Amino acid sequence: MGKVTGFMEFERLSEHYEEPQKRVKHYKEFVMTLSDDEAKTQGARCMDCGIPFCNSGCPVNNIIPDFNDLVYQQDWKNAIDVLHSTNNFPEFTGRICPAPCEAACTLGINEAPVGIKSIEHAIIDKAWANDWVRPQIAKQKTGKKIAIVGSGPAGMAAAQQLARVGHDVTLYEKNDRVGGLLRYGIPDFKMEKILIDRRVEQMTAEGVKFETGTFVGKDTLGKEVKNYSKKVVSPEQLQKDFDAVVITGGAEQPRDLPVPGRELSGIHYALEFLIPQNKEVAGDNKNEIRADGKHVIVIGGGDTGSDCVGTSNRHGAASISQFELLPQPPEQENKTLVWPYWPTKLRTSSSHDEGCDRDWSVATKRFEGKNGKVEKLIGVRLEWKDGKMQEIAGSEFEMKADLVFLAMGFVSPAQQVLDAFGIEKDPRGNAKASTEGEKAYYTNVPKIFAAGDMRRGQSLVVWAIREGRQCARAVDEFLMGSSVLPR
Ligand SMILES: Cc1cc2nc3c(=O)[nH]c(=O)nc-3n(C[C@H](O)[C@H](O)[C@H](O)COP(=O)(O)OP(=O)(O)OC[C@H]3O[C@@H](n4cnc5c(N)ncnc54)[C@H](O)[C@@H]3O)c2cc1C
Ligand code: SF4
Repeated sequence: MGKVTGFMEFERLSEHYEEPQKRVKHYKEFVMTLSDDEAKTQGARCMDCGIPFCNSGCPVNNIIPDFNDLVYQQDWKNAIDVLHSTNNFPEFTGRICPAPCEAACTLGINEAPVGIKSIEHAIIDKAWANDWVRPQIAKQKTGKKIAIVGSGPAGMAAAQQLARVGHDVTLYEKNDRVGGLLRYGIPDFKMEKILIDRRVEQMTAEGVKFETGTFVGKDTLGKEVKNYSKKVVSPEQLQKDFDAVVITGGAEQPRDLPVPGRELSGIHYALEFLIPQNKEVAGDNKNEIRADGKHVIVIGGGDTGSDCVGTSNRHGAASISQFELLPQPPEQENKTLVWPYWPTKLRTSSSHDEGCDRDWSVATKRFEGKNGKVEKLIGVRLEWKDGKMQEIAGSEFEMKADLVFLAMGFVSPAQQVLDAFGIEKDPRGNAKASTEGEKAYYTNVPKIFAAGDMRRGQSLVVWAIREGRQCARAVDEFLMGSSVLPR
């Protein structure tokens, strides 16, 4: 363990952030990695408590007490080996994971938990800086060919694992660049895209072929597909050319808000704003949706809404309000009731700190505008009554709105992609496949596996990595009869 008395001696240290008024002037990352001494002190706080609840709280089961101890000993080289043994891309999770491990930390029951995510971040950044992250090229090829559809964290993790055990892997992506929502959903100020490019380079050296601008499905280059893809490959072609196919196409169907006035211009799904912004930051065309000087309303209180807030602040919005349907959660959870599980509590993101008025228990009744353009939102306050949220009589209000972003989550994967493959769906419209047993991640269609948000529904990057890794093992077993890949 770190230092036997470390948890009594040292306070939790948080990573340093650039000040809000400075960081809203750019799109670069603003979180500074812990120094070696800070990371050592943080590692010293780990109690190695015997049953590491953090390890099971982490979806990829990072071996947290071991790397905490190694960082305390300043043995960074072994720390990265331990970290990479469970997580292909700790530089992604070390930046954007909500850290359920920390909610499960035993020290967190009566003290601030160990800063596990900040230690993970420090380990992987040091590893890249020291050139310790190298391609792991398979010693023998199996001659088996695998296609992966969708290059988000699930597809990338599956591709890397499968290439490392000697399979020929081709990763198809309909967009022009690799990375899924890591690339085009999550803004650069949370995670810079060079981190994805570096991994693409590593994976290319490991033998993964990337086919970007290629839509897999039945579409014959209809208008929507033409916007991003140059080519269409049919599911039948993949089934013919490959020994196995993994579909990791994400959960792309956004939740709508079908109230009067929804058709007015100025009301957009969050990704209609965030995707072009990420492209602009990457050097492509300018985002046509501008928040400069505008009154912006974001509907939905999760990560996606938060990213709209951060981006609108960087544009220089006149005001930003964010509404959430549910009541305001408590500032602090009752640990004795919820530990080691993920608690419902008030979460304030770095984007909120940059400026935003948040309000809870609010429903949108309608939008109103002139000349086809939104000008205001009419809302109403809600209260819990008789076991459900109900409108409070007389609480209607209106608010000026030049731009509205709908960030209320994603209902399911794109159904036409699953239908093109003939894949059976679960009741929520996700690809139906279990994660257990002999047929783990296997769909009803021969040779076709599914993982990530496409299988589990809208989730997190760390869950996508877990599913990609586990699915890779299932595919390897299916093709070879057994597998050395970790579960
Ligand atoms: C704005 C936003 C912010 C988020 N912030 C966070 C965060 O801070 N932390 C966190 O943990 N999670 C966050 N998430 C969630 C996280 O990004 C997703 O859970 C994760 O990316 C899912 O990974 P995936 O690989 O399953 O799918 P995706 O990342 O969605 O990737 C799927 C890929 O498949 C491609 N594709 C789909 N269909 C086809 C087809 N037919 N042919 C070819 N390619 C296809 C898509 O273009 C896409 O590139 C956020 C999500 C959004 C939208
Ligand atoms: S991946 Fe997420 S849950 Fe796992 S150790 Fe890192 S921050 Fe914690």
